[in-house]
Amino acid sequence: MNKVSSHTSALNKDLTLQVYVNGKWVPKEEAKVSIWDHGFLYGDGIFEGIRVYQGIVFKLKEHLKRLYASASAIDLTIPYTPAEMQNLVVETVRKNNLQESYIRLVVSRGAGDLGIDPRKCKEPTVMILADRINLYPEALYATGIRVMIASTRRNPPDSLNGRIKSLNYLNNILAKLEHIKSGLDEAIMLNHAGYVVEGTAENVFIVKDRKLLTPPCYLGALEGITRQLVIELAPKLGLQAEESLLNAYDLYASDEIFLTGTGAEIVPVVEVDGRKIGNGKPGSISLQVLKTYREYVAHYQGVHVYPEKKVGVS
Ligand code: PMP
Repeated sequence: MNKVSSHTSALNKDLTLQVYVNGKWVPKEEAKVSIWDHGFLYGDGIFEGIRVYQGIVFKLKEHLKRLYASASAIDLTIPYTPAEMQNLVVETVRKNNLQESYIRLVVSRGAGDLGIDPRKCKEPTVMILADRINLYPEALYATGIRVMIASTRRNPPDSLNGRIKSLNYLNNILAKLEHIKSGLDEAIMLNHAGYVVEGTAENVFIVKDRKLLTPPCYLGALEGITRQLVIELAPKLGLQAEESLLNAYDLYASDEIFLTGTGAEIVPVVEVDGRKIGNGKPGSISLQVLKTYREYVAHYQGVHVYPEKKVGVS
């Protein structure tokens, strides 16, 4: 195949990407949501980011549990049961014949009027987008990332609790703008008392004296599914994992730092605010955690998108 035709077929493939919007699957270019949707006008809605590895949806039940918990917290009724939602997610991946994928599940308050009154929104909007995954470059895991502490503080949980995975990510985006403008890879956000909360889209762990320490989510962090798995896997590595209040000093004086998230998996941090962490290279414990996480993923048996093609995962 010459360059032009392979380019065209890649485009054609893209054209056929089917997304689920309010009860039906449509090609992504034809997908429409109302401009009166309060998800768009006010960030009034919730979402999940889920991965598919080798045709298996990773931790789907956990993601759905968090989605329904977020919905309860904003008093939004999802018009499907979790079992129905699970089928819709699987069907969306299946229609796109994807083995490796990133799924975005969005439920918004729906179309209303120009006021913020949610009672005006008669029906929630449900969207499921499954796309080819943009993997983080492998080099990032080999070299680690450089981060800063953002001056933008994380939303206080009594204003907008970070445990709600809401469509309102402006707080995180403001911190993201800071690290982008500083030419760094990521920002870590503190709360108003100076305690570490999380990254802009990842949870944070430090390693100190072979202990894994991560901030408690009551500070306003998302209860990350990757974070939870790292806590569960730690004993397998002979490590203790604990929730702990951490401040900027704890980051600077840590032996290692890594971030966790569905997309990023486990990313080693080698510098914070210009201070080298450890020897300025990804720490050996962080790399062990990454390896163990990837082994867990490779053996994970969850919801199969193509049960008829089920093959043993070695
Ligand atoms: N914190 C925030 C703010 C996030 O958006 C995410 C998800 N990208 C995470 C943490 C990590 O959560 P998970 O491991 O469930 O992807």
